[in-house]
Amino acid sequence: MSRVYNFSAGPAVLPEEVLKEAASEMLDYQGTGMSVMEMSHRSKAYQTIIDDAEKDLRELMNIPDNYKVLFLQGGASQQFAMIPMNLFKNKVGDYIITGQWAKKAWQEAKLYGTANAIASSADKTFTYIPDCSDLPIDDDADYVYICQNNTIYGTVYHELPNTKGKTLVADVSSCFLSEPIDVTKYGVIYGGVQKNVGPAGVVIVIIREDLITEDVLPGTPTMLRYKTHADAGSLYNTPPCYGIYICGKVFKWLKAKGGLTAMKEYNEKKAKILYDFLDSSKLFKGTVEKKDRSLMNVPFVTGDADLDALFVKEAKAAGLENLKGHRTVGGMRASIYNAMPMEGVEKLVAFMKDFEAKHPVE
Ligand SMILES: *Cc1c(COP(=O)(O)O)cnc(C)c1O
Repeated sequence: MSRVYNFSAGPAVLPEEVLKEAASEMLDYQGTGMSVMEMSHRSKAYQTIIDDAEKDLRELMNIPDNYKVLFLQGGASQQFAMIPMNLFKNKVGDYIITGQWAKKAWQEAKLYGTANAIASSADKTFTYIPDCSDLPIDDDADYVYICQNNTIYGTVYHELPNTKGKTLVADVSSCFLSEPIDVTKYGVIYGGVQKNVGPAGVVIVIIREDLITEDVLPGTPTMLRYKTHADAGSLYNTPPCYGIYICGKVFKWLKAKGGLTAMKEYNEKKAKILYDFLDSSKLFKGTVEKKDRSLMNVPFVTGDADLDALFVKEAKAAGLENLKGHRTVGGMRASIYNAMPMEGVEKLVAFMKDFEAKHPVE
């Protein structure tokens, strides 16, 4: 067996300990004589798995009792519709456009009402987070929407927007559990888990109870109502059982690592190695404004598309995989999620140094 350093933006690297443990339980989960994949979601064993997952997540994120935790399907993209369908009362949503994922959410919301783009960083290819201290928030806005960490462009909100009292909704797919956050500042926090938490197929929604109502847009399908899933403890229908089980293992792994404060420290150290090198390199350049740099996704370029392609190819041959930038941006992107070990980033930087020595800038 040989594992590579996988810098994929998602689906992405998972902790090796978790994968090994899951492998050891594959044929016989804790004496049940079956795999979690084969188990009824109504069984006692499975109820314990999902209950433990929720309990551990609540502990990790310090989620208050007046928030529900939902394990849903449809990916993060399904939430682009579920949010307006469930939260539109005045049918107005204010969106901050910091990249493709925020833009897609904004466009989806337009299907259901008025979706305002109240700020954007499109003018500079989403390389920064706009000033959100005094935005033109609509008096009727049902919520203000952000994509907290921009997976493609590598920016993150280091400070949340001033929503002027409106409910904050955040897509945290690519920064989920990477550092502590204050849940009480949000109405809805959601993320597809395939970036930092687990296998694709699960989206976790953390939602304040008062936002879960029967007063949804007419025609909202049963399956797309938060209330349906909240009332049924995420077991209205068959949930993505195996995916939730793996998420649960990742939560336990995070707890054993010291929780989110320790994770943040580790992530900061890891990211610093890469950013420090980018700042000192003559060949490689980070593409994001320093103040808005993400700890999770680090885009960089050489400025020469052919050289970028050569770098990606040679890196892959050296066991450093999936460094190609998003198809809309080009260049390179290293996603260095929780499960990427320090050594992975050290190897990447050592490889970049070698590459630069072979391709010196005059
Ligand atoms: C990947 C990603 C999405 C889309 O996730 P799907 O699960 O594929 O729908 C949405 N938002 C962000 C921030 C992402 O990184």
